[in-house]
Amino acid sequence: MTDFSYEVDQDGVAVITWDAKSRSMNVMTREGFVDLEALFDRALGDADVKGIVLTSGKSTFAGGMDLNVLARMRDEAGADPARGIFDGVMKIHAFLRKIETAGRDPKTQKGAKPIAAALPGTALGIGFELPLACHRIFAADNPKAKIGLPEIKVGLFPGAGGTTRLSRKLGAMAAAPWLLEGNLADPARAKAAGLIDEVVPAEDLLGKAKEWVLSASDGDLVKPWDQKGWKMPGGAPYSHAGFMTFVGASAMVNGKTKGVYPAPKALLSAVYEGAMVPFDTALKIEARWFTGILLNPSSTAMIRSLFVNKEALEKGANRPDAPDQTVKKLGVIGAGMMGAGIAHVSALTGIEVVLIDRDQEAADKGKAHSQGLMDKAVGRKKMTEEAREKALSLITPTPDYAALNDCDLVVEAVFEDPKVKEETTRKAEAELPETAIFATNTSTLPITELAKASRSAEDFIGIHFFSPVDRMLLVEIIKGAKTGDRAVAKALDFVRQIRKTPIVVNDSRFFYANRCIFPYINEGVRMLKAGVEPALIENAARLVGMPLGPLQLIDEVAIDLGAKIARATKAAMGDAYPDDDVDEVIFWLEGEGRIGRKAKAGFYAYDEKGKRLGLWDGLGEKYPVAAEQPDLSEVEERLLMSQTLEAVRAFEDGVLLDIREGDVGAILGWGFAPWTGGPFGWLDIIGAEKAVEICDRLTGLYGERFKTPDLLRDLAAAGDSFYGRFGDGRALAAA
Ligand code: NAD
Repeated sequence: MTDFSYEVDQDGVAVITWDAKSRSMNVMTREGFVDLEALFDRALGDADVKGIVLTSGKSTFAGGMDLNVLARMRDEAGADPARGIFDGVMKIHAFLRKIETAGRDPKTQKGAKPIAAALPGTALGIGFELPLACHRIFAADNPKAKIGLPEIKVGLFPGAGGTTRLSRKLGAMAAAPWLLEGNLADPARAKAAGLIDEVVPAEDLLGKAKEWVLSASDGDLVKPWDQKGWKMPGGAPYSHAGFMTFVGASAMVNGKTKGVYPAPKALLSAVYEGAMVPFDTALKIEARWFTGILLNPSSTAMIRSLFVNKEALEKGANRPDAPDQTVKKLGVIGAGMMGAGIAHVSALTGIEVVLIDRDQEAADKGKAHSQGLMDKAVGRKKMTEEAREKALSLITPTPDYAALNDCDLVVEAVFEDPKVKEETTRKAEAELPETAIFATNTSTLPITELAKASRSAEDFIGIHFFSPVDRMLLVEIIKGAKTGDRAVAKALDFVRQIRKTPIVVNDSRFFYANRCIFPYINEGVRMLKAGVEPALIENAARLVGMPLGPLQLIDEVAIDLGAKIARATKAAMGDAYPDDDVDEVIFWLEGEGRIGRKAKAGFYAYDEKGKRLGLWDGLGEKYPVAAEQPDLSEVEERLLMSQTLEAVRAFEDGVLLDIREGDVGAILGWGFAPWTGGPFGWLDIIGAEKAVEICDRLTGLYGERFKTPDLLRDLAAAGDSFYGRFGDGRALAAA
């Protein structure tokens, strides 16, 4: 069944309507390209057709390309993947170029059929590259619509002509935010920026597009770059302005990517080289760079984690077989930082919420947090006043637990104290319906222990959010020893409702995300104590793609919280506790009152307003910098490997059940160098053999914490990879 329909009206305008029957949003597939090209051929070849309008049968135009198609294109290209991908991409270029030239005579530049794109709503990726090949782009005045080219965010760049067309349409400088940052705009902003040509009332969309098609002149149908004497807006590379632009852009890209992300650099090269040659050659250049990116292991890993697997997890790849558990009414207990955030994101997606705290004032404060965030969104025109009123009306703040009597899910976010949590569980369950699921947002307390206070350990689960809740996409779902399938399904259905990404892990100390982030912080602190230049530690972290260095990270989280967790962990582990050397530094700073950003003093110095100034001088007095410093690459390896090994151990221990969750969770949960596609992605990029070599070397130098996991050694011996063996989501035990 085709995703496109074709109709010619009485005025001779052919309307091609994209409406993928099996999906809520149009997504371009391989078959889609073939079908769409056939319809354009039909319209261009029919003498009775005067022009063409490309539109959508949905409220949106298209969400982009099915990235699985690109992955398949690469996998199927066999012995010469570069050739296979390049030829495939050039075919797409030829098709879009056919739309752009629309049958005109290359000599006279006359005789083309006008082609307009009519976008009822969101148009992303190929969904915007196709319109860019048309002669005029109309969009409905739909403020919810998003228009743009977000490919860069998953490690790609627009490879169906979007890079070449948009840079030529706007100039390299003006195109940069859209191409290099993947910014998206609503129709009004898209028009102001020159991305599209017209914004019209939704009900007039098709009429206006047809009207234009019937009145367009030959001159309207020749793109500026196909006209004689065309010059790149804002200056070609070898002009004064162009020189400034490209030198600046190159520096900016390197500054932002630290050289570890290949796509922005390739994109810039395609624009730079393409700007100096005729359009068709520029497309060929774009295709070459794009092929290089598709074959780059980093891009492959990013697409896999940030697109394919992220989506698979969101769609419930690891959901147990249980009836629909959509949440109708949610109870949130504890209206502090986390509880207020959870209530907020739930109400935003239309879930009714009872928000409980110890007294009315505290509960109201939680709701006020949501009001504040929504007011900001309204101020920025990201939300309408009606939508705000509707969402706010869904939150009922109260100290009265009886209000939980018709909730089907509760998320508890009271103080991190087992006694308070146990009492809260009992009080809440006394009011809740029998079938309700009880979830705790604890970050450190074992779920299995907390479940003992519940009337039904089967219906008790961990739903661990990250701070700030409104911005962090990951939610870690933790199964206690007795947690049942219905509770897991409930948690997953809830996470889907609030449009976040779930991972499901087993119960163990610090679950998955926190378990991996602590060794990273600890490794940074250990190096500092051993005399490694603090700036080297922090810069190495950023150069290897971490968003924050380990010392900055613990300043942000709070050093006293780190110290509290360290004391509790030591008390629980006794002699086996391995981090006394780290604690020496942390306890010293805590004693000095330098507990991080909130105190405007920590590993870093801050001004009175809390602005971070630089690493604190006092560190060097206590822990003098050693005369001999390690290589940058060794510091990078230590920082990345400390987290990665913990992820592998979590998988070996059966805490992590699926490496796809391990990778997606690492990037979304704590910002693990996204260019790697996650810790398992990174190990596959460097290869198991090399990873073993690094671990063996680091173990010799720094001790058992770098001990090579058996699984890694086994993969190296077998010449295997993590994704080769576990990429389908199988757990280690079942391998
Ligand atoms: P918070 O101190 O900001 O909020 C806790 C709230 O619970 C307070 O408003 C308090 O009045 C209320 N409360 C305490 N006892 C109560 C009771 N018996 N009944 C009703 N309300 C009660 O703490 P937070 O940072 O929001 O953390 C809450 C939970 O979330 C903790 O378990 C914490 O470990 C976990 N968590 C925190 C973070 C984070 O970054 N802060 C991240 C993930 C998970």
